[in-house]
Amino acid sequence: MKDRYQGIDFFRIIAAAMVVGIHTFPFSSISPKLDELITLTVFRVAVPFFFMTTGYFLMGKLSLQQSYLNRKGVQSFLIKILKLYVIAILLFLPLSFYTGTISTGTSLVKGGSAFFFEGTFYHLWYFPAVIIGVLLVTYLLRLMSFSGVMMISFLLYLIGLGGDSWYGWIKGIEFVSTFYSSLFKVFPLTRNGLFFTPLYLCLGIYLYRKGKTKNIKEIPFFLVLSLMLMLIESYFLHTYTEIKHDSMYFLLPFVMLFLYQLLLRWQPKIKWKTKEELPLFIYVIHPLVIVVIHTISSRILFLKISLIYYLLVLCGSWLLSVFYLHLKGKKKEISPVPFRAEKKILKEAVTHNVSEINKIIPRKTKIIGVVKANAYGCDLVGFSQLLLKEGIDFLAVATIDEAIKLRKAGIASDILILGYTDPKRVEEIAFYDLIQSVISEEHGRLLNIRKMAIRCHLQLDTGMHRLGMQPELGAVVGMYQLPYLKIEGIYSHLGSADLLDEFSVNRTKGQIESYQAVLKGLKDLGIDYGVTHIQSSYGILNYPELNFDYVRAGIILYGFLSDSIQEPKQKIDLKPVLEVKAKLISKRYVKANEYVGYGTNYQLTKETLIGVVSIGYADGLPRSLSNQDLFLMCQDKRMTQIGNICMDMLLVDLSQAEDVPLNSEVTILSSDNIEQIVTDEGTLTNELLSRLGERLTTDIIN
Ligand SMILES: *Cc1c(COP(=O)(O)O)cnc(C)c1O
Repeated sequence: MKDRYQGIDFFRIIAAAMVVGIHTFPFSSISPKLDELITLTVFRVAVPFFFMTTGYFLMGKLSLQQSYLNRKGVQSFLIKILKLYVIAILLFLPLSFYTGTISTGTSLVKGGSAFFFEGTFYHLWYFPAVIIGVLLVTYLLRLMSFSGVMMISFLLYLIGLGGDSWYGWIKGIEFVSTFYSSLFKVFPLTRNGLFFTPLYLCLGIYLYRKGKTKNIKEIPFFLVLSLMLMLIESYFLHTYTEIKHDSMYFLLPFVMLFLYQLLLRWQPKIKWKTKEELPLFIYVIHPLVIVVIHTISSRILFLKISLIYYLLVLCGSWLLSVFYLHLKGKKKEISPVPFRAEKKILKEAVTHNVSEINKIIPRKTKIIGVVKANAYGCDLVGFSQLLLKEGIDFLAVATIDEAIKLRKAGIASDILILGYTDPKRVEEIAFYDLIQSVISEEHGRLLNIRKMAIRCHLQLDTGMHRLGMQPELGAVVGMYQLPYLKIEGIYSHLGSADLLDEFSVNRTKGQIESYQAVLKGLKDLGIDYGVTHIQSSYGILNYPELNFDYVRAGIILYGFLSDSIQEPKQKIDLKPVLEVKAKLISKRYVKANEYVGYGTNYQLTKETLIGVVSIGYADGLPRSLSNQDLFLMCQDKRMTQIGNICMDMLLVDLSQAEDVPLNSEVTILSSDNIEQIVTDEGTLTNELLSRLGERLTTDIIN
């Protein structure tokens, strides 16, 4: 949860404390009436508050769009809660037997009811209630409009209410008591996932859909009013009727609606830094603490004072939870598995490069992080997550499958597919909420024919003649009129931005002019053409004066220039984000005049200590780099690569690094001459990086 919802965060702790109160009756030694009105009435906001939080933050989006990410969010939440429920059942199993909630003689119906509705121990009902409620509301949302779901939830709540605090009042009516007596056979209590949870989930969803209300002046008044009325309702029910249970009040949903709106706005002064799971853990653990304190309190008299008893249970549960979460956090720091060959991604270098790029682009221009080809060999998901942390909220990939991989890893940013996607896959484009490039006029029409609304950026071929439609105004306008293409941007790509000779510069200028002409034409026609972008890395470095909405940064994000043919116009300080590491796995002295490795093109002139390093061309290190003065580094010592690079290994000359011990880490692409080496080989760092093989493991260094 972001800082924006500090009020909600803060109240989660308060709500946990209220729940502990409900199970300990803090005011009982002062006045039982106080417990009725405070503990069993006011504190009843706690659980609905948690339900509404689930509704607001988890299901609000789902109710607007049944997209992959939104569904996945709900799914993983349910799995998490289910796991916790099972653990809690086991934890409380001895107590459940002891108190008789379950026994060896428990029937299947009773057992099932306990598992799905009541909880196997008194407070555990919360877990099945969330699970059933979320499942039910999710299912209903697929069948009908949100207001329909709200109506059904409200009706279910009324049925629940009749079986809860209102039961004593209305059971005199004959058909009511017949109805409930059969209902109670299955659900001894109606405050469960069927009758209680859905309405509060819906209220959370409702507030999410409503968005921020401007005028909240009257809300405190309505909160106080509804709270007063609820107190009256509770007083009446407790005093004049034989109350069955007091979780549900008619006025509670109204109280919640006003309370939650205030909490969404609330920015408490005290900033409490706690783990998000803390309230839930307090919730799970506190009955254990109750048992302990209850046992001690029979010996120590002052513990019989209910407020002290309550505070002790609260603090005890709190400390236990904090301690447990602390241990759990610790356990994660497992020692690294030894590797053979590995890519290390340096977070610090990513931060550095992003800030360097931001320094040279105009202030209003934002970065699209290009993460195609497994993020240039730097691990698609891991690298994308680092970019998101740097505030880059727009990623670009080459293929739809790369985009889906990002979504499945839970990445929620905008994702632009730069390359061609077969129109047969429009459903996936829509389902995963991706942005497709329209790479030709025909492509646009075929995408549109599928009658599935998708987000697009229009690509113009302004002179590179690879992808994009002709920059011809009439045709471009035609694309904007296709009903199923939601065109959110228009872009082009430069063919010669890396070179500064006259021909290249003229070609680039021609492209930029042609792009700008289309934009102007569209603007004159009053068409909102969406966001604009044309520069990739060298466009940024050689044409820093351009002023479009985005730049598409690729290779420079990774801290490399493509080659060393030409110094770019705009200097930039880049740090390679990637270190490729392997191990020195063997050392041996070899006599003069011997050949090393495959073939006879490397002969020793003198006796030399040779090292074997555990990385080869199958790991993506091109064989053509053999004998090219590639330096490997270990403990600040240089080792020159010699002989032909093999599939899984390579050889180095250890003359300047004789005492480097076996099994040391060797850095492969550290050479400051790497850009020179790729230039000599007629390739680019882009190619070198993107071909780094799957056999390398990845480690992200914070
Ligand atoms: C690959 C690519 C980029 C990024 O290129 P770099 O030179 O690595 O910055 C940008 N735009 C498009 C269309 C691309 O295909």
